[in-house]
Amino acid sequence: MSSVTLRGIEKRFAAVEVLRGIDLTVDLGEFVVFVGPSGCGKSTLLRVIAGLEHISGGDLMIGDRLVNEVQASQRGVAMVFQSYALYPHLTVRDNMAFGLKVRKVPAAERERRVTESAATLKLTALLDRYPRELSGGQRQRVAIGRAIVGSPDVFLFDEPLSNLDAELRVHMRAEIAALHKRLATTMIYVTHDQIEAMTLADKIVVLRDGRIEQVGSPRQLYENPQNIFVAQFIGSPKMNILPAEYAGLLSKSLVAPTAAESLGIRPEHITLTTAQEGGLKGTVSHCEYTGAVTLLHVGLEGGDNCLVLHSDERTPDAGSEVGLVAASANVHFFDGESCRVEAR
Ligand code: ADP
Ligand code: MG
Repeated sequence: MSSVTLRGIEKRFAAVEVLRGIDLTVDLGEFVVFVGPSGCGKSTLLRVIAGLEHISGGDLMIGDRLVNEVQASQRGVAMVFQSYALYPHLTVRDNMAFGLKVRKVPAAERERRVTESAATLKLTALLDRYPRELSGGQRQRVAIGRAIVGSPDVFLFDEPLSNLDAELRVHMRAEIAALHKRLATTMIYVTHDQIEAMTLADKIVVLRDGRIEQVGSPRQLYENPQNIFVAQFIGSPKMNILPAEYAGLLSKSLVAPTAAESLGIRPEHITLTTAQEGGLKGTVSHCEYTGAVTLLHVGLEGGDNCLVLHSDERTPDAGSEVGLVAASANVHFFDGESCRVEAR
């Protein structure tokens, strides 16, 4: 297994700048997730690491080897795509062995590696089937198996679960986490789904428009987002952004720092009081009951809207006047779009 180091990585397609200087270290054995909205450059960054795209600037190291000019097949990486890209006319066994055959690995060794990988992925009983005889989840396991047999130093996954239904996605997410534990190999995983990022990653890299917005553990990004983009991308439903002067109403004795233009408060960190008890006043406009929790849409007196996640049995009805309060530790302050300011 290997670490991966990116220094000032740039990628242009003709005049279109897609990656605008990416600096990042992926440590040995780490599970790193690239997350960001569609079109921000996640796949391009992964393809650059894989060697499927030539970089326009910067240096890329895998382990201590500079690989800028090294061919994909010589980089010791294996990539799993969203479209499983299995050969329809080959059995599971032959699909898994295909890459080894191309690399002229002897037949006995191929058989040994396929058998071992199939056992790891619970594919043993399916080895003689064709892709059309498999479910979506099984096909994706074969695609992962095809990557594992080569014993790569680094695994790259590009939205591998996006084609699966919600239930299977949760199941496969757990399988991939277990696989990482078992193999302990460096893994880089791309997704636009912040829940996948939060549940899988040791380290999340939030990308926007070809740049890194923030790097950190899931907890660091949730608790200390450096800007409004990260604050609203991580966490669901997304963080409310409100005028900073509401701070004192939301949390008694909390004064917004002078530089703060906005305050951020997550829907799950707001508690309801009655309108008489104080707090930030508003009227419930709409309730979304989902069982364990209810999402309340609250229209504030100043005209802003605020989401509140409410887990109490007694949910106020639409039209109720409420007060919103929050613990000061959960209130974030931001200076415009770009940065975060500290409360004290
Ligand atoms: P993501 O995976 O985050 O959705 P991509 O890395 O696929 O984003 O794409 C980032 C940007 O680069 C998009 O604007 C896309 O249109 C552009 N792009 C990707 N590949 C090419 C290409 N081969 N030629 C021109 N533009 C490309
Ligand atoms: Mg993509």
